[in-house]
Amino acid sequence: MKGMVETLILARPRGFCAGVVMAIEAVERAAEELQDQGELVVYHEIVHNRTVVERLRAKGVHFVEELKEVEALRASRPLANTIVFSAHGHPPGVRKEAAQMGLTLLDATCPLVTKVHTEARRYAQEGYWILLIGDSSEHQEIKGTYGEAPERTILVAVHTHVGKDPRLADPRSVEVPDPERVVVLTQTTLSVDDTLATIALLKERFPNLVVPKRKDLCYATQNRQEAVRRIAPKVDLFLVLTSPHSSNGMRLFELAQRLVGRAHAIESVQELKEEWLQGVRRVGVTSAASTPEDLVQEVVTYFRARNPGLEVLEEGEPEEVAFRMPRPIPPEEALRG
Ligand code: SF4
Repeated sequence: MKGMVETLILARPRGFCAGVVMAIEAVERAAEELQDQGELVVYHEIVHNRTVVERLRAKGVHFVEELKEVEALRASRPLANTIVFSAHGHPPGVRKEAAQMGLTLLDATCPLVTKVHTEARRYAQEGYWILLIGDSSEHQEIKGTYGEAPERTILVAVHTHVGKDPRLADPRSVEVPDPERVVVLTQTTLSVDDTLATIALLKERFPNLVVPKRKDLCYATQNRQEAVRRIAPKVDLFLVLTSPHSSNGMRLFELAQRLVGRAHAIESVQELKEEWLQGVRRVGVTSAASTPEDLVQEVVTYFRARNPGLEVLEEGEPEEVAFRMPRPIPPEEALRG
């Protein structure tokens, strides 16, 4: 029957992870504390979600993709002398450039991304070649990790995405100058299955490949994918609330599509189409680590308006992870790059 959805199953965990909560709160607090100086600038979108960014813009926060934009902005309005770095991390050269401009740096990089940066530096110092698996050479997290040791890092595609970005090598044919001294690191937000399969391909090619014990895929990525996996057999359709440029969100969508067959990635309920609901009784819903919960609740409201007897189930365990608020980076540290 068209449109008569009887049950919604909301995945748990879903939505904001600890890194996103920390980053958004860092921007909100800084914007408020520094308002006497002027408006706040953030390097890159603080998290990959349009609603979050628009809500912060409405509070006078500016997002720049290049530091030279800061001076242009300053010409038209008073700006606070602080710049916040986004949750995805940044190349060390950007930190140095910002410090040279005399800006105070507030680093809202997720500590789980920083962990991968630290690994990249350490392995490069030890003379390893780093194979860095990512979903796009343009993703801010990949740019940041690559920037830690560009001369020793080779970008590699997830095996299911080979050819989508010409700057990412095929794991089946990637070359390194010394095949005996190779380590694999990854973006934190990839598909768990596809990353393991890609590492297996690299291991075939480089039998001495070092795979760090503490995997780089973060807890939030793994838990959200696991929640989709649990719900998938029980639903006819999966809706994933995500921005199209959220890596973890699009991996949830791909997984739901693979497991359920019928899945859609939407930014908000306004994109939901009635025709998708043909013959659908049970709908699974999840959201990317940067999607605000009110966007999920709008989906619930939409279905409840069509069926007042709608059953809404929450399935899975909530997460209890929190990260500390960032402190300003001392200038001498930032100037080291
Ligand atoms: Fe950190 Fe993972 Fe959240 Fe990214 S998705 S901010 S790595 S916890």
